[in-house]
Amino acid sequence: MLKISGINASYGKIQVLKNVSLEVEEGSIVTILGANGAGKTTTMKSISGLLKPNSGKIEFLGEDVTGLRPDQLLRKGVALVPEGRQILAGMTVLENLEMGAYHRKDHDIASDLNKMMERFPILKEREKQLGGTLSGGQQQMLAIARAIMSKPKLLLLDEPSMGLAPLVVADIFKIIKEINESGTTVLLVEQNARQALKVSHSGYVLETGKIVAEGKSDELLNDSRIIEAYLGRK
Ligand code: ATP
Repeated sequence: MLKISGINASYGKIQVLKNVSLEVEEGSIVTILGANGAGKTTTMKSISGLLKPNSGKIEFLGEDVTGLRPDQLLRKGVALVPEGRQILAGMTVLENLEMGAYHRKDHDIASDLNKMMERFPILKEREKQLGGTLSGGQQQMLAIARAIMSKPKLLLLDEPSMGLAPLVVADIFKIIKEINESGTTVLLVEQNARQALKVSHSGYVLETGKIVAEGKSDELLNDSRIIEAYLGRK
């Protein structure tokens, strides 16, 4: 579904991504692991159109989408839930969800809103509340729900569990699994490496802007170098 071939990306003169290649198969969950500053967010920005790679190619559903703008990619079915959630704090929960569907021209928006409220009862309960007054976990759910309102084929999740309490983290991973089971392909960036690999099918490890390991998630979970560097002993 998504194929990245040898992308290089930089901020000004500082090169961050060095010849990064990765693939996400339709229907799967793929995790990108890496330490702080490894280039995970930069990879997500490149895929979602927020940062133009200097070279290399990004293909989505067989089409070259390198260098397209975020709104163009959204229309093609690529939605990003950015690091730090970035919901609209001064808008209500309902308005946030409606914003997610702003570019849609179909007539299913109202019924999708209902479905979203069923899937996330806490958002239904708080639909008139301002986004900024929600707890961190609720804001993350809202950010994910808002992205799903765009009807993505590929959902990019950048550190969805960051800063959340363990029980809430478990909820978020459950939701990610459900979203995938209902047909959306997911690319996930996580520091919570063990939990992320447990829900995903395959993974990549980024170190200082380069892919240094890749494999099926169960192989990575049992790889002594990955355990040492990213998973810690249980
Ligand atoms: P984190 O978990 O800390 O977000 P990350 O793997 O997502 O880490 P990136 O945010 O992609 O890492 O950052 C990769 C490198 O690029 C880091 O060295 C960072 O300092 C640098 N960087 C990130 N954003 C910018 C920017 N806007 N301008 C300049 N340098 C940046």
